[in-house]
Amino acid sequence: MLTIKGLVIRERPAGENDKWLTVLTAEQGVLEVRARGVRKQNAKNAAISQLYSYGSLCLERSRTGVYFLNSSELIRSFYSVRLDISRLSLALYFSELTIYTGTGEQQSADVLRLFLNTLHYLEVKERSHRLLKPVFELRLMSEIGLVPNLIGCCKCYKYEDGDMVFDMAEGRLYCSRCCSKRDMTRCAILDGVLLHALRFIALSDMERIFSFRISKKHLEELSLITERYANIQLGRSFKTLEFYKSTDSYEEKTD
Ligand SMILES: [Zn+2]
Repeated sequence: MLTIKGLVIRERPAGENDKWLTVLTAEQGVLEVRARGVRKQNAKNAAISQLYSYGSLCLERSRTGVYFLNSSELIRSFYSVRLDISRLSLALYFSELTIYTGTGEQQSADVLRLFLNTLHYLEVKERSHRLLKPVFELRLMSEIGLVPNLIGCCKCYKYEDGDMVFDMAEGRLYCSRCCSKRDMTRCAILDGVLLHALRFIALSDMERIFSFRISKKHLEELSLITERYANIQLGRSFKTLEFYKSTDSYEEKTD
């Protein structure tokens, strides 16, 4: 028997009344868990077996290595995230990213904390979802070991230099003097504001990363950069992200 704290980041129906839950845990990375009977009314583990439920799960491992949910205690349900299509689709993108990166045991406590904090802000709407996207993207990459080196120019160590060039394939910065003959299609030009924002998200304490202010124009640029960085580093794009971008409040640009 194994007792873990975990967040359900994906759920799929299985058999007649069961679900497969993809659970981001603090200690064991991402686990697939079979929850039996939870699609029946009043089933005992129904509350935890919902998308974006967080709680304590008691698991049993079968001889073939499958985890079954035995009992559970709900700590928090981010239920209302599921009621807004833009916020839900953004959360689903975060789920897809997290599952794809295969968060290992080493980093899973921090990734779980990042996910819970992000869901909290998605739910209380204190932060624009436009801000949550780049913060989650870059911080996730940083937590799983793909943190870019943003300290200074990787050749001459200059900390700031007007515009700097961020090579997203290498994950390194170059000052204007040192960036010669670079393939600019995989690079972003960073002014001081963008560089500061990237450093802040990648390197600050987790509690602080959602608390910075940036203009709308810079936020759009930042969001493009963190998205491209994730795409280039992971070598693929994500359908859930395309869906998020097709939703109304993303288009409106008012939130
Ligand atoms: Zn340099």
